[in-house]
Amino acid sequence: MNQYKKSAELLERAKKVLAGGVSSEFRKYSYPHALFYTSGEGCRIYDADGNGYLDFSLSQGPLILGHSHPEVLEAVHTYTNKGQLFAGQHIQELELAEKIQQLLPGAERMRFCLDGSAAIQTAFRLARAKTGKQLFIRFEGHYHGWMDNVSWALSAPGVEALGSRLAPEVFPWSQGLPEQARNEFITLPWNDLELLRKVVEERAHEIAAVITEPVMCNAGCILPEKGFLEGIRELCTMHNITFILDEVITGFRLSLSGAQGYFGVVPDLAVYAKAIASGYPLSVICGKYGWMQLLEKGTVVQAGTMNAANATVAAALATVRTLEKLQPYKRMFDLGQQLMDGLREAAKETGHRLLVQGPGPMFHTGFTRLEKVRDFRDTFTFDKEKLNRFVAGLQNSGIRVIGRGLWYISAVHTADDIRTAIEKSRKVLDGMN
Ligand code: PLP
Repeated sequence: MNQYKKSAELLERAKKVLAGGVSSEFRKYSYPHALFYTSGEGCRIYDADGNGYLDFSLSQGPLILGHSHPEVLEAVHTYTNKGQLFAGQHIQELELAEKIQQLLPGAERMRFCLDGSAAIQTAFRLARAKTGKQLFIRFEGHYHGWMDNVSWALSAPGVEALGSRLAPEVFPWSQGLPEQARNEFITLPWNDLELLRKVVEERAHEIAAVITEPVMCNAGCILPEKGFLEGIRELCTMHNITFILDEVITGFRLSLSGAQGYFGVVPDLAVYAKAIASGYPLSVICGKYGWMQLLEKGTVVQAGTMNAANATVAAALATVRTLEKLQPYKRMFDLGQQLMDGLREAAKETGHRLLVQGPGPMFHTGFTRLEKVRDFRDTFTFDKEKLNRFVAGLQNSGIRVIGRGLWYISAVHTADDIRTAIEKSRKVLDGMN
């Protein structure tokens, strides 16, 4: 019997109205096809066929408090009863900004936007205006949204195609990208400070910013090598280059002060989205006054009709306050560690070379001969077909993870959930032999 029959039927219907049946490219690639969901509660989500899943995808990360957290829902309900969008200032917006300023080391000023992509483009604009320079440095495999300029260098047909480490080839993620957008960036392999130093020292007069994810969550969940983020900080300060930290995933996930607090490195500008608002569209571009004052003066412009709408602000304020109250981080790290250890053991027992890598609140699983992946180039050793079988097997047995092998832990997962996930994973791995 097809356990996804209803979803399959709905998808056929959807394809007649939604391009590809979905509203975001990534949703197309679910197993066995895009699924329709009907409800979510805590760390469980249910699909249209009535299948329930223990959710480790957390809707690509945002649901740090799980689905339908009562305090978030209550706050949204109460606040939106008074209005939905004032297109003017409101008190909870101010309270949210004050709270974020207290929590994030480098948030001397901020603006709210709708998503990570928009906030990152604002950061680029600020960096160019502040430094008077045009080029950016980014790193292979890092995802900074889907806009034109960052859609180069997201994928490659193979590791050899990337060419030299000093001047990697970049490939368009999509047709329709402006050719000139590829020239906005110098792309380099990540975690190689010497290489970065060499390029910065040669071309500092052209470089407006270095942007990085603090943990390379979008390919292999790779931690920065000791001193790498500090090295970027130092190079940027030395050469009048803006250091942009893309905390879309790490923000409010590694700690209440994000990766800035976790690693003790303060960038010039940082971007937050996902976990801050429990599934409501709110992002933050924040940073040092020297940069953010350009928005104050109006020499740099950022705008948006829907920015800081009541529902999104209420959701974010409730999320941050709840996280502050729960202080779930140690628990999330511990549960993540237990799950990572359990998966490693299950793989060993069933004879698979499964690399489980990440800090805990998020981590990656991939089948590779390597003991560790250090940058994007290493991720080409992952056996994608085997991963697909693993993810499919997990899903068929009620465990939802992100298709590329990324797992997220929420504040509401329990030790029992972790045990269940390990047991089911062991069975799936066993069945793959
Ligand atoms: N930056 C990172 C690190 C991300 O993971 C994402 C999305 O997954 C983005 C930026 C883009 O954010 P959004 O999808 O909210 O536009």
